[in-house]
Amino acid sequence: MSIIVSPQERLSLRSKLREHFGFKRFRLGQEEAIASAMQGKDTVVVMPTGSGKSLCYQLPGLALEGTTVVVSPLLALMKDQADALARRGFPVAEVNSTLNDRQSKLAEEAIEVGLPEFIFTTPERMADPEFREVLKRRKLDLFVIDEAHCISQWGHDFRPDYLDLGHAIDDLGKPPVLAMTATATPEVIDDIVESLHIPDAELVHTGFYRPNLSLSVQRADGEEAKRNALLHLLSGAEGTGIVYCATVKAVEELTAFLESLGLPVTCYHGRLSQKRRAESQDRFMRGEVRAMIATNAFGLGIDKPDIRFVVHYHVPGTIEAYYQEFGRAGRDGEAARGILIYDPADRALQSFFRGKLPDAEDLINAHHTVARLADEPEAPNLSDLMKISPLPKTRLRVCLSMLIRFGLVREEKGRRYRTVRAELMPGEARRLASRFREREERGKLKQHQMVEYAESRSCRWAGLLDYFGNEELPGQACGHCDRCEGLVDRAQVSEAG
Ligand code: ADP
Ligand code: MG
Repeated sequence: MSIIVSPQERLSLRSKLREHFGFKRFRLGQEEAIASAMQGKDTVVVMPTGSGKSLCYQLPGLALEGTTVVVSPLLALMKDQADALARRGFPVAEVNSTLNDRQSKLAEEAIEVGLPEFIFTTPERMADPEFREVLKRRKLDLFVIDEAHCISQWGHDFRPDYLDLGHAIDDLGKPPVLAMTATATPEVIDDIVESLHIPDAELVHTGFYRPNLSLSVQRADGEEAKRNALLHLLSGAEGTGIVYCATVKAVEELTAFLESLGLPVTCYHGRLSQKRRAESQDRFMRGEVRAMIATNAFGLGIDKPDIRFVVHYHVPGTIEAYYQEFGRAGRDGEAARGILIYDPADRALQSFFRGKLPDAEDLINAHHTVARLADEPEAPNLSDLMKISPLPKTRLRVCLSMLIRFGLVREEKGRRYRTVRAELMPGEARRLASRFREREERGKLKQHQMVEYAESRSCRWAGLLDYFGNEELPGQACGHCDRCEGLVDRAQVSEAG
């Protein structure tokens, strides 16, 4: 790391921290990240969830002269961050798809006269050349990409729209870039640096070890054993936590089961209405429930510091996803737990395609089927598509999900589909098909590594840190995972004997 912070700079940063945010001291990594951004360098910040990445752009954004653009993957996340700054009295603008034409116009006028200090926006908006023209009239002091792992196909939250950000940055005349993420294996960091065209970026990486989180895996075979294991955990647990399931169906069934036993739980998944999701999230945030039962749709950017446990009811697809999800526990630094309930049969839940993968021709056919119904008043659903599809149903579904993942088809309310572009070229379809094949292979490897974690006989933390790139534990063993505790117990027994 070649970020040098002079003593004067340190003093001045600290006084700004107190003045603007009321915090006494920086957390690990923040000062380096902020100094790097203030020196106008491109910077990639890799810090665990809850460690305070937002401050790394907020402080420079305020201190530097110019406007700061912040790109977020989720509207809810954007709103949280914008509200937090607005509450502190800083002028912010949000530019996203929820604005109507008049509101957009007003926001753009405010930006043109340089009112907002911070502009929160989406990757879709950044892809719009007209919006970029508006931004070009301002001096941009910092271009921030939050949850930057979304740029990587190998990250678990891949957003195809993130892929165009590099082009947007170039078009804006290359303002200093600050990319932030909690998930970064070396390959994801490489993707971020490459996609954003910031080869010389400084890397601020605080490591992955979270000594207040204890990890364990509970083997349970079959639904009944798993439910019993969960009940046991929930009845002994203190505070509020999250239980992650792999599917919407599992979330609903498990919630109904726990409610039938009188346990105070609530649930969250992508197929609930906006209103139900908001209610559920509020109850969880207020600590009214023992647990939130959820799919991975819940959690990105949730700022609840006192989550005491995160249980995985199914084995996650990757170690990155697992780390990010259990990492939501214990942000307040107090003891918290990450527990995986492991049934080897659940490996089948990961959505790998068995049998022949769709090829380029299948993709073109599927895309064309959706495009043919584009002029209907209502976007087609699967059964509308089946009426004219040359592909059998399963194959069509597989193709649709690929096209969605790569941003060529949009899924709308009521599982209806719309093409994003009128045509899909053969070359492009071939590239997609082969990218997809690679992705599947990589996905299988990643899941294999997750299973190795579950079945490992050695220290859980040591295994994770090794996976993320050879970080060493402060001691020989972490002392607070099921493997190390077992070792400690056995050591005591043999000493006593
Ligand atoms: P991340 O994006 O890394 O998950 P956030 O930026 O949302 O984390 O910060 C998590 C919490 O930590 C927030 O409530 C924030 O106000 C708080 N925080 C950040 N920096 C500091 C600091 N230096 N001192 C005290 N609290 C901090
Ligand atoms: Mg964040």
